Amino acid sequence: MSRAKRSLDWGFPRWRGYGSSRDAATVRLCDRHGCEDPGNCPAPKAPNSPERWYFCEKHAAEYNSKWDYFAGLDEAEAQARAKTERRDNSGFAEAAHYGWAGSGDGGRSADEMRALEVLGLESDASFEAVKKAWRAKAKEVHPDVRPGDADAAKAFQAFQVAYEVLRQAEERREWKG
Ligand SMILES: [Zn+2]
Repeated sequence: MSRAKRSLDWGFPRWRGYGSSRDAATVRLCDRHGCEDPGNCPAPKAPNSPERWYFCEKHAAEYNSKWDYFAGLDEAEAQARAKTERRDNSGFAEAAHYGWAGSGDGGRSADEMRALEVLGLESDASFEAVKKAWRAKAKEVHPDVRPGDADAAKAFQAFQVAYEVLRQAEERREWKG
């Protein structure tokens, strides 16, 4: 894929003319630092937050599979985004703080909330519901079912990661419980 040359002018939000200067259309660019592809895949900034990042397809998949959207940012921008995240996410930060205090009391970390969202579940979903949703979703995009389908492979990976996050959280609760 050919990439537009990088610009040092990366404001936020990142709106800029895309492609030739004769092209009148302005396209929202991917929010991932340094990416000049059109950002047309919205991804929630925080669980249940109406605010969205807008990523290109590749970075949306990366965001969904790794949650590591601070990677590649310089320190100042990473801090600015972390600050915004904390503000947007204050309710969940609190939940994370108290998350391990009880056993299955619904206290969830931000990672767990994101994982639940990937699996299409509510914050109070039981681990049985998690297993069920994960099996059903993973089955649809399993490499055996969709061989050679890159999008399915990415989705499959995202479901695996989400399940792993929730499985480990469940284990921690059982130890503490
Ligand atoms: Zn991108």
